[in-house]
Amino acid sequence: MFDVVIIGAGIVGCSAAYYLSQYDIRVCVLEAANDVSMGTTKANSAIVHAGYDPETGTLMAKHNVIGAALTKELCRKLDVPYKECGAMVIGFDETDLNTIQKLYDRGIRNGVEQLQILNREETLKLEPQLSRDVRGCLLIPTSAIIAPWELAMALMETAVRNGVQLKLNNRVEAISKKDGVFTVRTNADEYQAKYIINAAGVHSDKVHELIGEKEFTITTVKGEYYLLDKSESSRCQRTIFQCPSAVGKGVLVSPTVHGNLIVGPNAVDSDNVDTTYEGLQFVKKRAQRSIPFIAFGENIRNFAGLRAKNDRGDFIVEESRSVPDFFNIAGIMSPGLTSAPSLGLAAVDWLKGKQELVKKDSYCESRKKIRFNELSDEEKNELIKKDPRYGRIICRCMTVTEGEIVDAIHGVIPAVSIDGVKRRCTAGMGRCQGGFCGGKVAEILVRERGISPLEVLQDQEGTNILVKELKVK
Ligand SMILES: Cc1cc2nc3c(=O)[nH]c(=O)nc-3n(C[C@H](O)[C@H](O)[C@H](O)COP(=O)(O)OP(=O)(O)OC[C@H]3O[C@@H](n4cnc5c(N)ncnc54)[C@H](O)[C@@H]3O)c2cc1C
Repeated sequence: MFDVVIIGAGIVGCSAAYYLSQYDIRVCVLEAANDVSMGTTKANSAIVHAGYDPETGTLMAKHNVIGAALTKELCRKLDVPYKECGAMVIGFDETDLNTIQKLYDRGIRNGVEQLQILNREETLKLEPQLSRDVRGCLLIPTSAIIAPWELAMALMETAVRNGVQLKLNNRVEAISKKDGVFTVRTNADEYQAKYIINAAGVHSDKVHELIGEKEFTITTVKGEYYLLDKSESSRCQRTIFQCPSAVGKGVLVSPTVHGNLIVGPNAVDSDNVDTTYEGLQFVKKRAQRSIPFIAFGENIRNFAGLRAKNDRGDFIVEESRSVPDFFNIAGIMSPGLTSAPSLGLAAVDWLKGKQELVKKDSYCESRKKIRFNELSDEEKNELIKKDPRYGRIICRCMTVTEGEIVDAIHGVIPAVSIDGVKRRCTAGMGRCQGGFCGGKVAEILVRERGISPLEVLQDQEGTNILVKELKVK
């Protein structure tokens, strides 16, 4: 029996697992997909928001500000790309300038540091490619960018190294409780636990209702994006926001930690992650208002993510009102990525009120990764001498070696698909989007996992890239 079952391995479940793994308790994470961070965590703007946007006094504001500081610390400890590039909220008219003043005041109340309001000339001096129509901005120097799925992966890898059991391909389908013990039934197995933490993202209302009464409702709001090639990376140094509206923070243009330019999202009620012509046209038009000369012909990928909008208008971070010992971290819309570490700690605090939690004598809190293209020539030579597979470049766009791909496949949480390899070591994330290296990555997966080529997945279960053999020798 486990002390705690966490449902969902997005950034929230991974953060909870990371912090709980430091205590002397048995923790299990149940995830429906075949990898961590397969939900909203892999498809968002990747911004570590400073905390000027949420209304003062809300859980969003609290967890945003604490989470932003923790994210910075965790990325350092866990060797996850993090860049404090700063951000701007730009304004085009009097209404926007009033909004900017309100955001500044709110940011100060929320405890955000270094905020400044800049006039037109100061704004354009910092970001010369902005539209000449800009009238001023809120400058947020502490805003940052990260690789969300890498942080989730690093948190869960560390948790697993500390003894947490991660059960992928386990969709929770039924929950019951008898004599103070929960039984959680998945499509694959059955698990017992004293406590449950519900971090099931857009499905967290349904997961709660497997045992509890209806206490909140999640609806999904889609956001669509362009990811542009590195050739567009110099359009802006900072994340450029427009003034937020009732439906979200608006369309942003931002550098990414991998050197690309990301543009999006829109906000459309939808329950799927298909991108649409209309949605992308809207994003493009809005973005051109901020930076008119973005070359959208340099687009290398479109994608979409789903916001978990809840009917209470704030994060839901509380014990279920109808099921004792069941903790909901639900309706975690933006800034959920930023807030996740703080939400993970909230789960620890809740559990401390339930049972005594004793820290383990020793546990690991950090991680180091080999990134071949960041090494010096001496370090590269040294590595290749030890293992020649680090001398074979498989992904030329991102300079990823066979050694790194093999590391991803045999890691603490092994990559089981081509995209799983991509999320761990960036192979296939460059201009050709795996057009050249995808086949080679597939071959390595076949060799290292001892599987048939027909079993190679692009991403989740059912995305086999080959369906049958054509020529039989
Ligand atoms: C368009 C967009 C832009 C955003 N931009 C930002 C941003 O820049 N900065 C920021 O801070 N936040 C941002 N966010 C918000 C942020 O991405 C989310 O708040 C965060 O990723 C939510 O994480 P999660 O772990 O709650 O959910 P998820 O990542 O969705 O994880 C939930 C997991 O639960 C699993 N699951 C569901 N049901 C079950 C079940 N029955 N059994 C087992 N497992 C199950 C799913 O497979 C999934 O892996 C954005 C969101 C969107 C959509």
